[in-house]
Amino acid sequence: MNFLSLDGEWSRAVAAGLALFIVLGLLAAGFALSAGGSPEEAREAVEEVVEEEAVGRNDRPATVWAGPLRLPTDNVALFKENGAPQFYQYVNRHFEGQSSQPWEAGQYGFVRTPVRTEEMGVVYTRFHEGIDIRATQRDGRGEPRDTVRATDDGTVAYINESAPASNYGKYVVVEHEWKGTPYYSLYAHLSEPYVETGERVRQGAPLGRMGYTGAGLDKQRAHMHFELNVLINDHFQQWIDKHFGGNPHGVYSGLNMRGFDPASYLEALRDDPDLTPAKFLTGLDPYYKIAFPRNGPLDVLRRYPWMRPSVGDSTVAASAPSWEMSFTRGGFPLKVEPYSRELSGPTVTMSAPPEVPDGVSCMHLTYEHLKGATPNCTLAPRGRRYIDLITIQGPGESGSRRAW
Ligand SMILES: [Zn+2]
Repeated sequence: MNFLSLDGEWSRAVAAGLALFIVLGLLAAGFALSAGGSPEEAREAVEEVVEEEAVGRNDRPATVWAGPLRLPTDNVALFKENGAPQFYQYVNRHFEGQSSQPWEAGQYGFVRTPVRTEEMGVVYTRFHEGIDIRATQRDGRGEPRDTVRATDDGTVAYINESAPASNYGKYVVVEHEWKGTPYYSLYAHLSEPYVETGERVRQGAPLGRMGYTGAGLDKQRAHMHFELNVLINDHFQQWIDKHFGGNPHGVYSGLNMRGFDPASYLEALRDDPDLTPAKFLTGLDPYYKIAFPRNGPLDVLRRYPWMRPSVGDSTVAASAPSWEMSFTRGGFPLKVEPYSRELSGPTVTMSAPPEVPDGVSCMHLTYEHLKGATPNCTLAPRGRRYIDLITIQGPGESGSRRAW
């Protein structure tokens, strides 16, 4: 991760200067007050203001910077008080006879396709694996003009220049090495990519222009769909050949990348610039768990060893016949642990967190990875295929139990 961007340092220095200026101003105000009141009153007044300062997000300058990373366009409203409606692109929703344009649907997570349930009221059933960032500039014809920029230094891993070839439309994937681990930022619905595969890019480098290529978009809803991803399996092509066939995107298909919430991560980085994705992700709670036979090394574990917590008894770990994997509600893999039971195939070992009532449709809760009703969810075809993607082996790897 590039923690030493000159521009970033400069803007942070300006921010620090501003903060010092505000504190000095507050102290001066305190002294001015103390001229007319007791020292206690003066101190209370200062403390009150300082407290407000600590909670008031709008007093922090909204910039593109988030610790060592930067926002991928010049839309900085994410970091402004009440700025979310200016940051996230709305969707057109028609639900229970009402039409609306909720900006919330541009966030990461279960934000789309509401369904009313008996057990939980309205449940949002469709998972959005990135964030939709609104255009800030339009030309005379209403075309978006925003430049899409690299969130950090990296290498352009893939460009899809054929809009109809993906729901993402034209998209760019940049590989970053963060503390020695590969992560993949993805920039979708571009009108035009500016870079080439294999090109080294610096943080902030223009990658393309915002557009509205891809599924279900028009000029009015033009935005940039942004993801931060892990790569699931180098043997993706074997998996796609087995289940679907055809794939022009190599391993950089959206099906082979799993995204975590970029907005939450960037916001967390503003408070803790040293927060690695590993630390951020290991702090998340699992939503469901699936155990499956151990039939060789897991490629995802080789790339992201932090998914494997330290195991007390390594002989148990080495001889365990199965794995148990924890997932977020959106299917992001959080953790892999040895599982002591022999299994004939993948099995759901945790359906949902305890706060979820019984009887809820597992399809609704898990974006169709699980089926049935809580607390007895079983694997749905989509979940079964996903476990197959996680476990599919390269030639000659199958059957080995090494690489714990
Ligand atoms: Zn999107």
